[in-house]
Amino acid sequence: MSLEELVYDYPLYRPPSEANSTILQVTLGCSFNHCSFCSMYRTKSYQERSLEEIKFEIDLISKYQPQTEKIFLADGDALNVKTERLVEILDYLNLKFKSLKRISCYAMPRNLIQKKDPELERLRDRGLGMLYVGIESGNDVVLQKVTKGASSSMIIESCKKAIDHEFTLSCMVILGIGGRTYTDAHISDTAKVVSQISPHYLAALNLQLDESVRGEFMSKYREPFSWLTDLEILQELERLIVLFNPTREVIFRANHASNVYSIGGTLPSEKLKLQRQIHELKSHPEMLRPKIVRRF
Ligand code: SF4
Repeated sequence: MSLEELVYDYPLYRPPSEANSTILQVTLGCSFNHCSFCSMYRTKSYQERSLEEIKFEIDLISKYQPQTEKIFLADGDALNVKTERLVEILDYLNLKFKSLKRISCYAMPRNLIQKKDPELERLRDRGLGMLYVGIESGNDVVLQKVTKGASSSMIIESCKKAIDHEFTLSCMVILGIGGRTYTDAHISDTAKVVSQISPHYLAALNLQLDESVRGEFMSKYREPFSWLTDLEILQELERLIVLFNPTREVIFRANHASNVYSIGGTLPSEKLKLQRQIHELKSHPEMLRPKIVRRF
């Protein structure tokens, strides 16, 4: 058997910054799977893979890629796995890969809240170093409307807990998710929440709805949803950047496939540079990426 024969359970997702990481599926799907905007794992029922299967794949990867340095634990929220099992997986990864530098995974706020402090310490000590948390919005009305399953206070508590335990934290928010009705509240509350958290990385994506969840999103919203225009999205981005006052230098990106333009920098030090860039884009909308090439 060769590494090419490693059988993934599709669809398979990883953050853009994990493009060079080896992906190891320790779970299939998402343990929540109810966010109304998210179609990623709708075709899967959440499952935790057996240790035998996981160790078999680790053996296979270590045989063909012994120098592996970065591993991303998929699918949607590997941190949901019981700590004992995660510890066993991490120990086995450390045993098999001598050059391992980083292990990361997606995490939901409730995964982090459910783990006790000593559990997070054990995971951190074994090299689980980076967590990706979808915040989406800091506004509680919007969070409820998109059935996120977390309130702004839960999001703050969980993300601060991750930082307190020395995880590198990368957070995602979604521009346009409050529609036109909640655009002001969405951005001002999101800026407050991400400022309080001050994650190491912050990504602002654009709302994109796959056909498979569009109807559900609209019905759960419980009122007419009006999409923002590209210029309004740029205004949200600008306000977010202006209002974001982190307590550390944060690497900020709005360069996802869904974004209207690829923008990035370090905040707060490059705030003015990014604002100038957005002003320029607002005056030259022809520079924005056409809708047809934007997707999740
Ligand atoms: S956004 Fe994250 S938590 Fe929500 S359903 Fe999708 S994968 Fe699960």
